[in-house]
Amino acid sequence: MKPATALIHTGERIDTGATPSLTVPIYETSTFIFHSVADVIKYQEGKLHGYLYSRYENPTVVAVEQKVAAVDGAEAALLFSSGMAAISTTLLTLLKPGDEILCSAAIYGGTFHIIEDLMAKFGVERRFITLADLADLATVIGPKTRMVWFESPINPTLRCVDVRTVAAACKKAGVLSVIDNTFASALNQPVLAMGIDLSMQSATKYLNGHSDVTGGALSGSKAVIAPLAKARRLLGGIMDPIPAFALGRGIKTMPLRVAQHNANALTVAQHLEHHRAIERVYYPGLASHPDHAIARGQMSGFGGVVTIDVKGGQDGAFRVFDKLKVIKRAASLGGVESICSLPILTSQYGLTDEELVAAGVSKGMIRISIGLEDASDVIADLEQALS
Ligand SMILES: *Cc1c(COP(=O)(O)O)cnc(C)c1O
Repeated sequence: MKPATALIHTGERIDTGATPSLTVPIYETSTFIFHSVADVIKYQEGKLHGYLYSRYENPTVVAVEQKVAAVDGAEAALLFSSGMAAISTTLLTLLKPGDEILCSAAIYGGTFHIIEDLMAKFGVERRFITLADLADLATVIGPKTRMVWFESPINPTLRCVDVRTVAAACKKAGVLSVIDNTFASALNQPVLAMGIDLSMQSATKYLNGHSDVTGGALSGSKAVIAPLAKARRLLGGIMDPIPAFALGRGIKTMPLRVAQHNANALTVAQHLEHHRAIERVYYPGLASHPDHAIARGQMSGFGGVVTIDVKGGQDGAFRVFDKLKVIKRAASLGGVESICSLPILTSQYGLTDEELVAAGVSKGMIRISIGLEDASDVIADLEQALS
């Protein structure tokens, strides 16, 4: 072989022999080799197990999808390059012109905008509904309704929706129920077991848990997932092998992480509840939370996000925000490091005073994603910032 050819063809497929690797390697390849035309034909006819192209499927990604399915108690799961890619693939695949989507008005901003701004262009009808509507769906579902989309707990108030009630009403009406389960994760809230058809998560948050991957996940029955898998090949939103590897590693410690996030967040919420510098603490695990009963009925842990309403409104919140040291000022949630954000400058940025009231968001709110530090260090940081 000439040097250039030798550089290309030597050492490419390392075989670990009789001692296979413990972990799934990163198959960082865009394509796969077929040995013959006969194999290509057999693959296309579904008679040969193999891979064709990494936009379709990749072994590392498939291995991690199996982990996600195990976490979610699902028959099948799919991974995407972001939570938004999972959302857009779902909407573009399962809705057509004339169909109506009922979406909770209290929803992730990206979800709201893709439904309101983008799906409108495809003739999909949208209705944004209240928490009261979600509790009484049978009277709200119309003849054109194809899908109900909601989340629980809801950002940043952590209001909760009765998941079983929504799932049952959708089932009865023959409508697909979809939940964004990002805040709770299936470990705290096993939504598929409660009758939900499709669970969507931003894998960027608790699934990966280390703030170093952007990803999305869908899980459900084989029948619900199959058309989404087919559409993902065309829409091109599959996760890459390297982030999939990192996500797979993150998932291995997910039960430990989620348990500790739950415990730390509850400790922090209880500590702050009667603090003299705080107007109100929002955490579904507190008896004072308006949806504590719903949360207790469907969550085994209440998650790692705590929202506080600081006395002194916007000025008070800005002051506390700037004084935090251990808790970093950053968007997102679900990672090892505690981070915080101001809803009026992030998820609710640009809303009018009336819209803020409708969303239950105040100007003094700080949303904190409680990490895995010692809870007493997080509390001490909040104490010095609130003093
Ligand atoms: C972050 C987030 C998303 C979007 O996920 P990305 O990974 O950022 O695309 C959707 N829903 C909720 C509730 C989120 O927190």
